[in-house]
Amino acid sequence: MIYRLVYYSRNPESELGHNEIDAILRISQRNNEEAGVTGALMFDEGFFAQVLEGSQAAVEETFERIQMDPRHCDVQIVDFAPVLNRTFARWAMTYVGSNVTRSTSAVVDASSFNPRSFSGQELFQKVASLVFGGRSD
Ligand code: FAD
Repeated sequence: MIYRLVYYSRNPESELGHNEIDAILRISQRNNEEAGVTGALMFDEGFFAQVLEGSQAAVEETFERIQMDPRHCDVQIVDFAPVLNRTFARWAMTYVGSNVTRSTSAVVDASSFNPRSFSGQELFQKVASLVFGGRSD
C-alpha cells in the first residue's frame, strides 16, 4: 500500500541559495530512489512544502531524517494517509520553486505562498499543480 505524507516547514534563513537546494535534491534523489520513495519539494517565500510517497515504513523513515534537518524548522505534517496511486511516480524527488532556473514559471504562480492557510489536500494540490503545470517534459 502506498502512503502519502504532506508537510510544510520554514527555512530559518531568509533565502536558500541554488547550491543548498541542489544539495538537498541530490541527497534526496539518491536516498529516495534506494528506499522506493517518490515525491516533490517546493520552496518559496521562505517556506518548504514536500510530498513523500512510498510504503508506510519508507515514508516514515525518510521523514524522521528530514524533520531533524536544521536547514528548516517548524515542520508541520498536514496529511499522512494511504492513497491509490503515486502522483509523482516519475521522480525520486522533483522540485518547484525559487533558485532553480527551469521552474521559474512555477514561482510566479507561487508568489504569496503561505502554507499555513492550506489544508493537507489543498497543499498537495498546490504542489501537484506547480509540478505538472510548470513542466513540458
Ligand atoms: P549523508 O549521506 O551523510 O548526506 C547528508 C548530506 O547533506 C551531506 O552532503 C551533507 O553535507 C548535507 N547536509 C546535512 N546537513 C546539512 C546542513 N545542515 N547544511 C548543509 N548541508 C548539510 N533527504 C532524503 O533522503 N529524502 C528527502 O526527500 C529529503 N527531503 C528534504 C527536504 C528538506 C526541506 C530538507 C531540508 C532536507 C531533506 N532531506 C531529504 C535531507 C535530510 O534531511 C537529510 O539531510 C538526509 O536524508 C541525510 O541523508 P544521509 O543520512 O544519507 O546523510
